[in-house]
Amino acid sequence: MKLRLQKVIAEAGIASRRKAEILITSGQVTVNGNLVTTLGTKVDDNDKIEVNGVPIHKEQLHTYLLYKPRNVVSTVSDNKGRKTVTDFFKDLPYRLYPVGRLDYDTSGLLLMTNDGELANRLMHPKNEIEKVYVAKISGFLTASEIYDLKHGVTIDGRKTAPAKVKIIKTDKNRNIQLVQLTIHEGHYHQVKNMFKAVNHLVDKLSRERYAFLTLKSLISGEYRELTHEEINKLK
Ligand code: URA
Repeated sequence: MKLRLQKVIAEAGIASRRKAEILITSGQVTVNGNLVTTLGTKVDDNDKIEVNGVPIHKEQLHTYLLYKPRNVVSTVSDNKGRKTVTDFFKDLPYRLYPVGRLDYDTSGLLLMTNDGELANRLMHPKNEIEKVYVAKISGFLTASEIYDLKHGVTIDGRKTAPAKVKIIKTDKNRNIQLVQLTIHEGHYHQVKNMFKAVNHLVDKLSRERYAFLTLKSLISGEYRELTHEEINKLK
């Protein structure tokens, strides 16, 4: 099957589709040894594509849904020797990378993939993928705090996008609340910082949904491969 050169480069995880276009037009890509600077050039599996002289690997694409436990880092390696999300997939013959991040102490749904283009697309803010978190917070949200979370709080001078807020449980004896927060942004410590902005500490955080995907019957530390239908629905 013939595919557009920029798509093949993006799928190899080297660059986003846009950056792949720049690599081509700026003369950094060869196909079978010939410089190609025209966008839309079609290639197939037999063509040898090199970016700055380095061959790209066209591997089978795989995407998994991992139930990340707490106390696992969502990077490929860790200089403190902590367990990473890639450790769960050590025995697979291909390398998977996390789609975005969950904090070390956050559990829940994390996608892992070797499809660079899919990962770039999912992480691009314009796609506004909906993510549902459940946070155990200190104290109880007041009506005006709920209003603020829903309509946007200011973090580092930036107002957060509208969010959905649902109180799941209030435990008066322990002075805690379980709150479901639905957002589509994904800034560093976004959920913890949103609660901090309304003066509540997050004691536990878990991601329960990513787009239409949920953890369903998985238990912490388990994973499953996404089906073709699920991947197509994400695209
Ligand atoms: N927001 C956070 O604060 N932490 C996460 O891990 C994910 C979202």
